[in-house]
Amino acid sequence: MKLVDTFGRNHSYLRISITDACNFRCTYCTSGKSFPVTPRSQWMLPHEIQHLAETFIHLGIQKIRITGGEPLVRKDAAEIFNRLGDLPVELAITTNGVFLPKFLDQFEKIGLNKINVSLDSLDPLEFYRIVGVDDFQKVKSGIQEAVERGFEVKINAVPTQATAHKEIIDFALLTQKQNVEVRMIEMMPFSGNDWDRNQVLTKAEILDIIQQQYTIKSFPKLPEETADRFQIEGFEGKFGIISTVSDPFCSGCNRLRITADGKMKNCLFGKREDDLLGALRNGSDLKEIILNNVWAKHAQTGGQLLSSNMENRSMIAIGG
Ligand code: SAM
Repeated sequence: MKLVDTFGRNHSYLRISITDACNFRCTYCTSGKSFPVTPRSQWMLPHEIQHLAETFIHLGIQKIRITGGEPLVRKDAAEIFNRLGDLPVELAITTNGVFLPKFLDQFEKIGLNKINVSLDSLDPLEFYRIVGVDDFQKVKSGIQEAVERGFEVKINAVPTQATAHKEIIDFALLTQKQNVEVRMIEMMPFSGNDWDRNQVLTKAEILDIIQQQYTIKSFPKLPEETADRFQIEGFEGKFGIISTVSDPFCSGCNRLRITADGKMKNCLFGKREDDLLGALRNGSDLKEIILNNVWAKHAQTGGQLLSSNMENRSMIAIGG
């Protein structure tokens, strides 16, 4: 079975948000404000997440990324991971890394090897300005421990026009002696993040900053990959740039999403949401809903132009 849309794109990658609660208040995500968290009774329960994951795997999903909000703040996260760990699927997680060390043993046990950690600045004061929490050292040491234990770690950062050029260089230098991948993501518009195109530091600008000091080589990109990947000559690690705004890459998209309250989205920017959790709870046919949702996927960016007044939820509520 395959989840193919009207443009021939095969969907093999599902991102499941397990909570819209987060311990950070990132400027580019929530504009530094607190967001109302969905009442817990509306969150998918661990056995429901497992059931939905099994359904998607049966339909052709091969990789599941657990995300949020911040997935590691959910009290029953460990139970969810154990349940997903029993399924025949590749597992990955995106986290802000504060509670990462607590979960590394379990991740090893269940074979979850791919960890993306957000680290938006290498300067503790700037980090605090961006995320609103003084947890820089915890995140850094969580990343270090995961790298030393052999996890495949990617570091995500959202540089903006407010980011000093020196920081871009410092991110690139992180890859000098460590086999990590740093990925710089163009700031995307979502409900509540006060997006303005002029804030976006684009792929071309990031490359320009790095190339003024270093020689880089680029790697071929698979159609479903989001990041253009590069390496500075002589460096161990790589850096990637995710150019959703300046150069969208929707034609190879293989992703589907489920929000923490069990709604299926076929695109990060799409308005359409189908209530899988409601359907699961009242015994409706999940397969039909999923296939219809995939079939309705737009060619690009959910059928909307990227702008500050797009109709969508916040990133924290969709699941990054
Ligand atoms: N709490 C986890 C974390 O911090 O990684 C997972 C959720 S977070 C929403 C997932 C990713 O989305 C992070 O790498 C974050 O940097 C990114 N993100 C959030 N808002 C964004 C925006 N407006 N533009 C680009 N990336 C964004």
